[in-house]
Amino acid sequence: MTQRIAVIGAGVLGLSVARMLALQGAQVTLFDKGAPGAGTSQISFAWVNANGKSPESYHRLNAAGIEAHKRLQQISRAPAPWLLETGTWEWAAEPAIQAELEKRLTKLTALGYPWRTVTREALLAHFPELRLDSRIQQGWFFPSECLLYPSLLIGWLLAQVRRLGGALISQTEVVTLSEHPDGAALELSNGEQWTGDRVILAAGRWSAELLRQLGLDLAMTDANRPDRVACSFLAYTDPLPIQINSNIISPELNVRPDGGGRLILQALDLDDYADPARPASTDGLIGQEFLRRLRRMFIQTEDTRIAKIEVGQRSRPADGLPAVGYATHHQRVYLMASHSGMTLAPLLGELVANEIITGERSEMLADFAPQRLMRPFIGKSEGLAPAYLPAAQ
Ligand SMILES: Cc1cc2nc3c(=O)[nH]c(=O)nc-3n(C[C@H](O)[C@H](O)[C@H](O)COP(=O)(O)OP(=O)(O)OC[C@H]3O[C@@H](n4cnc5c(N)ncnc54)[C@H](O)[C@@H]3O)c2cc1C
Repeated sequence: MTQRIAVIGAGVLGLSVARMLALQGAQVTLFDKGAPGAGTSQISFAWVNANGKSPESYHRLNAAGIEAHKRLQQISRAPAPWLLETGTWEWAAEPAIQAELEKRLTKLTALGYPWRTVTREALLAHFPELRLDSRIQQGWFFPSECLLYPSLLIGWLLAQVRRLGGALISQTEVVTLSEHPDGAALELSNGEQWTGDRVILAAGRWSAELLRQLGLDLAMTDANRPDRVACSFLAYTDPLPIQINSNIISPELNVRPDGGGRLILQALDLDDYADPARPASTDGLIGQEFLRRLRRMFIQTEDTRIAKIEVGQRSRPADGLPAVGYATHHQRVYLMASHSGMTLAPLLGELVANEIITGERSEMLADFAPQRLMRPFIGKSEGLAPAYLPAAQ
């Protein structure tokens, strides 16, 4: 019998699983309180990589995630490709940071993750507008990694979901979520209800709010907390005459092209000032610092402007690892919450849809069941039976 499945959240994770479920014949309805992609997925550095990710099972999941992206794009025939298989370039100036990098490279070698050393001359040849600190005599290239354009991926996934008969109900908040042994139900902000077989909670940084309605407390990093774990500035430039088609990870700035000649800049050491409640202005201290660093890094940036600065808010389970699996023993509500969602979306979409349709859980997800981060919610819903405990309790 056709399963009726609701997906809460039309970010990259929700859209990916919705597409895979629809492909396997489920009747899928996607709900989003805003527009598709308007959550964390629209404000992301979107570097597709498995670089420096531990433990090993998380590294392997991300490495498989890169391959899943490449496969998906190959079969997609998307009019506008979302993935550039152009690798990542990295370098470091300070000896302490170089030493850290070398340790990371040793680990990556043991894991069979491809990288190679590149000379200063090669860096300057590849990025003709680059100004390179004289201390930097070499860098590193990670050929399997990719640059991703989130809006193009989101657009393609959404078109596929629709073509496969799925429905998107946007600008509609899921206000309540409940489940019983035979199904699940949602109440919506437009006053309507949805009932069906299963719900996938792909609500990103809002996941914990919805799980409380099942009497569960999910430990997530508070995405409103102004610090570098929870938040990150992304500064967007005006179009620039700089030739770059891959991500750069460098001492002062991470840089990625954002299409049309614009760059997105990230400076992790500034992120303790990233506060979603206090947006940074382009001509304030943070904007000026981004501009100074950009000018130090590239020629032909003298007249450029920072067009806008956003504060990205992470969707991050408290231990930094994905939380993916059924939330309760009824197996009606399935949680998909992860940082690195840009890298993982196509793979998690496949694995989760397969688990829901066939009942078989992938070995790759063995370390990421959400129960490690859950406990009964003692708050407004105090007194509710914690649904994830065996029924006998
Ligand atoms: C600054 C920054 C840099 C990043 N860099 C990288 C990177 O380099 N590589 C990488 O792989 N990942 C990166 N990430 C992480 C990645 O962007 C996220 O993991 C991913 O976007 C999460 O997608 P999602 O679909 O889970 O969540 P979201 O995109 O947030 O989607 C959740 C959706 O749920 C909807 N929603 C929530 N509650 C409700 C409700 N009650 N009813 C209806 N709808 C609801 C929201 O409106 C939203 O659209 C970065 C993140 C940030 C912030």
